[in-house]
Amino acid sequence: MTLAIDGGTPVRTAPWPSWPPPMDDAQRALVTAVLDSGRWGATQGGSACSDLVAAFARRSGVSHGVAVGNATLGLFAALRGLGVGPGDEVIVPAYTFVATATAVLLAGATPVIADVDVADLHLSAPAVEAALTSRTAAILPVHLAGSAADMDALNAIASRHNVAVVEDAAQAHGATYRDRPVGGLGDAGVYSFQASKAMTAGEGGLIVCRDQAAHEAIWSVCNLGRSLDGAWYGHPHVGWNLRLTEIQAALLLPWLDRLDDEIDRRNTFASAAERELAPLPVTVVPQPPGATRDSRHLLMLRLHVPFDRSFLLAAMAAEGVPLDGGYPPLGTMSALTEAGARVEPCPAAEAASREVVWVRQSMLMDDLTGATHLAEALAKVLTRA
Ligand SMILES: *Cc1c(COP(=O)(O)O)cnc(C)c1O
Repeated sequence: MTLAIDGGTPVRTAPWPSWPPPMDDAQRALVTAVLDSGRWGATQGGSACSDLVAAFARRSGVSHGVAVGNATLGLFAALRGLGVGPGDEVIVPAYTFVATATAVLLAGATPVIADVDVADLHLSAPAVEAALTSRTAAILPVHLAGSAADMDALNAIASRHNVAVVEDAAQAHGATYRDRPVGGLGDAGVYSFQASKAMTAGEGGLIVCRDQAAHEAIWSVCNLGRSLDGAWYGHPHVGWNLRLTEIQAALLLPWLDRLDDEIDRRNTFASAAERELAPLPVTVVPQPPGATRDSRHLLMLRLHVPFDRSFLLAAMAAEGVPLDGGYPPLGTMSALTEAGARVEPCPAAEAASREVVWVRQSMLMDDLTGATHLAEALAKVLTRA
């Protein structure tokens, strides 16, 4: 069978679902209402941001939250609000988006890049133990691809060593760990609403936290150092304007009503893909122990045969089934090490960067013919790659 990259017939010519999905009636109505109100900013008495914060806090099983401009700033604000700063170290996983580490740098602290679990690719508890020093101030696990990190193991280390835990939930709206929502399992959790995420307003972020004092401190970081009940021109702390707009919140609030259906849809696709891929030397990267509901931001596939990565990605795109190459290990990014990041040995992240490819969330929204196309195209391309 001639590969499409060599002029053969592609497995798929139909387009994949676009992301984000088209705006629905509830979004259109709320966005229009906010636009008509003239209260576009979050300090003008509108309720979209505060309703969004309340809904996310409730869904995360905590009482507090702060809406912010994006998750990079959200992670920064959470760390800073929890007292993490210059001289401190924050342990981050080696297989994640770069912002997990650059948020630590923004807080003035040192990212310590620790390896991930060899199977599930989430921050490894033994690697965290090995990376701890007297300067460790926080652990920053990532709920990668929509599945929860092993929070019991990480929280146990954190409480033994008296360090904070900030959950990077940028990819995990609606995911659970032992049937409890992510975001509320550490000292703070941070969601992203950037354009590629499971809920998006183009950009945006949201921090949730359990503790009232932590909430006041994080809120202050995001609101120019004000105190919650203080004067407009009273600034007892140093802070910045990191706020989300009401217009963005209006796009996001109605989305919560369909998030669960969208997660189910992506999981149905993932299960079908796993069945279709069974004859091939390809497995779905498993969830960590304790992770329950996978919100399926991505479907991560591990290939168990040697392959030429750039050829595989180009050949799959030509077949009409584009895959994503995934993350290089954070420790290989010279910009991070030059900025002071410390890198622990990361063989599992290095293997992942060679062996793992991703199916994007928008493709997981397809009907199940998409799963068949994925398996057909991979079977075809693996004969050559
Ligand atoms: C997207 C993402 C971020 C950053 O989110 P922004 O809202 O784009 O700043 C951080 N961490 C992870 C794991 C992400 O996927």
